[in-house]
Amino acid sequence: MKRLIFLGPPGAGKGTQAQTLAQEWNIPHISTGDLLRQALKEQTPLGLKAQSYMDRGELVPDQLVQDMVEERLYQSDSHFGWILDGFPRTVKQAAFLEQLLQKLAQGSVKVINFDVPDDVVVARLLQRGRKDDSEQVIRRRLEVYRSETAPLIDFYGERHQLLTVNGNQSPEEVSAEIKKQVIAS
Ligand code: ADP
Repeated sequence: MKRLIFLGPPGAGKGTQAQTLAQEWNIPHISTGDLLRQALKEQTPLGLKAQSYMDRGELVPDQLVQDMVEERLYQSDSHFGWILDGFPRTVKQAAFLEQLLQKLAQGSVKVINFDVPDDVVVARLLQRGRKDDSEQVIRRRLEVYRSETAPLIDFYGERHQLLTVNGNQSPEEVSAEIKKQVIAS
C-alpha cells in the first residue's frame, strides 16, 4: 500500500512526479493547489475565500484546507493508497493529518522530501508562467515555504518517515529515485 506525502518548495517538481507515479500505481493524486484552483474556477464559497491568499502567495487558512483534505480522504478511492501533493504545508496541518490518519486507521505513511536549490526553483517557476508565478509572488511563496513548510522536514525526520530525493535531475531520474527509496523503505 502506498501512502506518500510529497514535500518541497514550489517548483520542486512534486506535481509532475505525483501525476506520473499516481497513474502508474493507480492511486489518487491529491493536490491541494489543484483542488483550490478548481474551486476558484467554479467560484464555490471555498474558492472565493481562497483566491486572495493564492494571488498573494500566502497560505490559505489551515481550517479551509484541512476540511478539503478530510473530505477527499473519506472518498472510497483513497482507501487503498494516495499521494498528497502540497499538503501538509504547516506544522498545524501535519498534526491534523496525523490525527485524521489515525482515525482512518491508515498507517505506514512516508514523506518524500524534494531537495532542489533555490535558484533552480525560481527559474522553473518563472518559466511555468501560472497566474501566481510573477517574480514578486514567487519570492513570497519561497519565504512562506521556508518559514512555514520547511519545519516539516524535522517534524517527519523525528518520526522516521522522511525520505529525501535529489529533485535537481530529469523527471525520469527523479521518478526512478523515488521508486528506489520507497521500495527500500
Ligand atoms: P506550487 O506548485 O507552487 O507548490 P500549489 O499548486 O501547491 O503551488 O499551491 C498554490 C497555492 O495554493 C499556494 O500558494 C497556497 O496559496 C494554496 N495552497 C495549496 N496548498 C495549501 C495548503 N496545504 N495550505 C495552505 N494553502 C495552500
